[in-house]
Amino acid sequence: MDVDYIIVGLGLAGLAFAEQLENNNKSYVVFEDNSQNASLVAGGVYNPVILKRFTPVWDALDQLEIAIPFYKALEKKLNTKFDHNLDIQRVFTSVEEQNNWFSACDKPFFSDYMIPQIIQNTNQNVNADFGYGKIINTGKIDAEVMLTAYKKHLDNKNLLRNERFDYADLKFEDYLVNYKNITTKHIVFCEGFGVKKNPYFKNVPLQEAKGELLTIHAPELKIDFLLKSSVFIMPLGNHYYKIGATFNWTDKTLLPTEEGKNELLAKLRKIITTDFEIVDQKAGIRPTVKDRRPILGKHNIHKQLAILNGLGTRGVMLAPKMARNLFNHLENDQPIDKEIAITRFE
Ligand SMILES: Cc1cc2nc3c(=O)[nH]c(=O)nc-3n(C[C@H](O)[C@H](O)[C@H](O)COP(=O)(O)OP(=O)(O)OC[C@H]3O[C@@H](n4cnc5c(N)ncnc54)[C@H](O)[C@@H]3O)c2cc1C
Repeated sequence: MDVDYIIVGLGLAGLAFAEQLENNNKSYVVFEDNSQNASLVAGGVYNPVILKRFTPVWDALDQLEIAIPFYKALEKKLNTKFDHNLDIQRVFTSVEEQNNWFSACDKPFFSDYMIPQIIQNTNQNVNADFGYGKIINTGKIDAEVMLTAYKKHLDNKNLLRNERFDYADLKFEDYLVNYKNITTKHIVFCEGFGVKKNPYFKNVPLQEAKGELLTIHAPELKIDFLLKSSVFIMPLGNHYYKIGATFNWTDKTLLPTEEGKNELLAKLRKIITTDFEIVDQKAGIRPTVKDRRPILGKHNIHKQLAILNGLGTRGVMLAPKMARNLFNHLENDQPIDKEIAITRFE
């Protein structure tokens, strides 16, 4: 079997790259072994404002310009709804924060997103004495729904191998590479934190940033926006809410922990006063890079191998643009910006 590409990993990165290939009539197969699940558990929020300091997310407007039409087109193609508009309301903790909000609103970057007023809290089940700052034109991708639909799409075309990609089975020829019975020009590794097991790219400086989330049922809470405080409270419908997320820089396991749950509960109880029931807990590892930028490019010796990784905490916004950049690099020799190129670590 001959294909133009093999993709290893079907999270947000692998999906975005597969779409590049489909849209450019390239042949490919995808390997996916369910060893990582950052994309499956992610909150899926896209938002160009850093909610801690009211500063711009790096490259956000460019990324959104590509990401929004990308997801819209994919919804149409898969005939599945997964992109949902969702306003964000950031709880203020002081008058100083309210003042910082108004200063940020004056900057042209934020004009389409930040509302220059204080929204008063009218919900007696929420502690928000200083009110909220509201961000609009934001949303969330239900990545689990999207990925499930995409897997089905690939399965129907017989392009998905539900198995571990075994690095030991690679055999290099001049400009090609063989993997078992497949000969290809390029292998693009989109393994998220799984890249640590890849002998060709294991030295990229990825830090594990494990995140845990709870799903709760809270019939009295009645919030229809994404509330951001020390944790976020994301409405899922039918009185269910996702609560997240923790950051743990040392735990490399995928399992939810008691410690993660207790941290989220302690923070949540400071924000809401109503009763709730925990119905689920999930965990995943964000593939985060030391300098907080993605990692794209070819292996320094085996030019048939490439990496698309380091999407960190913002895979939803980053993946479509990064996949496009890498595709243009591999197919048209377009240079990759130094800031995101793997060569910055060589
Ligand atoms: C708790 C939490 C909340 C988050 N919230 C948000 C959010 O609100 N917004 C946002 O934009 N981002 C969010 N993120 C970050 C986002 O999830 C990541 O940026 C993104 O999922 C990374 O995608 P990826 O495809 O690079 O990696 P992954 O999702 O980890 O995908 C890698 C895939 O490769 C597969 N794989 C690995 N090795 C092999 C192998 N040898 N053979 C076959 N398959 C292999 C894995 O099984 C996996 O499916 C969150 C992450 C977490 C953990």
